[in-house]
Amino acid sequence: MENRRVRVRFAPSPTGPLHMGGVRTALYNYLFAKKHGGDFLLRIEDTDQNRFVPGAEQYIIESLKWCNIFPDEGVGFAEGDCGPYRQSERKPMYREYAEKLILSGNAYYAFDTTEDLEEMRTRLSAAGVSSPQYNAITRQSMKNSLTFSEDEVNKRLQEGQAYVIRMKIPRNEEIKLLDIIRGWVVVHSSQMDDKVLFKSDGMPTYHLANVVDDYLMSITHVIRGEEWLPSAPLHVLLYRYLGWEEKMPQFAHLPLLLKPDGNGKLSKRDGDRLGFPVFPIEWYDQASEETYSGYREKGFFPQAFVNMLSLLGWNPGTTQEIFSMQELIDAFSLERVNKSGAKFDFEKTKWFNQQYLRMESNESLAEKLKPIILENGIAPKDEFIAKVCGLMKERATFVKDIWNEGQYFFTAPKEYDREVRIKKWKPDTSVLLIEWKNILMVLADFSPLSIEQAFKDFLEVKKVGMGAVLLPFRLTVTGAGAGPSMFDISALLGREEVVARIEKAVEVIELQ
Ligand code: GLU
Repeated sequence: MENRRVRVRFAPSPTGPLHMGGVRTALYNYLFAKKHGGDFLLRIEDTDQNRFVPGAEQYIIESLKWCNIFPDEGVGFAEGDCGPYRQSERKPMYREYAEKLILSGNAYYAFDTTEDLEEMRTRLSAAGVSSPQYNAITRQSMKNSLTFSEDEVNKRLQEGQAYVIRMKIPRNEEIKLLDIIRGWVVVHSSQMDDKVLFKSDGMPTYHLANVVDDYLMSITHVIRGEEWLPSAPLHVLLYRYLGWEEKMPQFAHLPLLLKPDGNGKLSKRDGDRLGFPVFPIEWYDQASEETYSGYREKGFFPQAFVNMLSLLGWNPGTTQEIFSMQELIDAFSLERVNKSGAKFDFEKTKWFNQQYLRMESNESLAEKLKPIILENGIAPKDEFIAKVCGLMKERATFVKDIWNEGQYFFTAPKEYDREVRIKKWKPDTSVLLIEWKNILMVLADFSPLSIEQAFKDFLEVKKVGMGAVLLPFRLTVTGAGAGPSMFDISALLGREEVVARIEKAVEVIELQ
């Protein structure tokens, strides 16, 4: 086992958009594979045709790409040696294993109709059984190849009667598995039911297909959500009965993602209802005609989203919070994944975005901001946009904030913040500002430092405090009550523009 090349997989079912918990599962698999120089596979588990949702597979692929989580093999990525990677295309491979289990006495044909099953449940409920199951006891009174004679079974099969193949769970056995995150997990077989392995439509169920594929794809570690822990003992039995125990992967069941208040699992339905997306990218639900928001469209950097997800359930054992993908790969270990659920924190997610925004170069931010500016019918020079980004990036969480809060860099204000006007515009403000403007008109050097010095000198000569002029100055040039240094803003806008703005604002405000 130890010498095998590490191979892990992310195996989503295309039943809808990928929840961020799913992205975290993919991420942990990816980090683990890369850390150990192994392979990360994407397998699409689409055996349940009833739950198939068009577009979901493409959505999964696009989400992984957006997050920079690139599988080495799998649907939508490179074709490896173990394809096809879509279970519906592997359909003919599964039957032989179901039949092998029947031959070895570990599975059986069951011919019960929906009514038969319903009748069994009603009967058991009436007798006080709280959760009636098809199991080691009840199977004895049902229509299956364990209760029928061989002739009867053959006759039914020849007639083409509908059947399923069920796992024959042993009656009295403890099934143990060593989970990397949870330690020993022990389940008594009396708690388990005879799960269907093969359906009447000729398709395997999740359990059979999942185990067969993990084996055929030489998977060494199964890293998946906690909701699959109850299925793990069944999978252990399947490995045993198929004679693959030597090659059984190690299991690691990841903790749940919880709602921000810690009350329960963060579900697909929570998303927009709680004021934040639960999906990596936007999803349009054809059935309900609803659009669910995504982190990408909200303006998050994929690196920030991934960094945030990495720490939801895993801790590096240090106080480091900002990790590049390579740093995550180097630091990641399953041993440092917590057992208990991880609370999602949207404010923290925004904090991550802010940190990543600050780390971007002005030029690269400008590239991202440019389309927003162009959309608004303005076409400034790239160099100018980059300078604006430099001044605004400390105050922004998203690229679009730079536009929203800094429109005045690109177009003169049309309105002047009412509150600042009421609070700061005194009877002598206009005169002071006009005098200040006159100084600006003749200032030899229009650099931030020189404007600042001139401003200080002006205050001294006029014997007024900073407060009397600085905010009104800001109001006239930007229309706003807060922003980056007025000396930086002025130098960037240039003398002509600043002078014109002051003149116009004084006129407009005095008239109001
Ligand atoms: N198809 C399962 C899912 O949708 C895969 C679970 C597993 O990883 O075994 O999550």
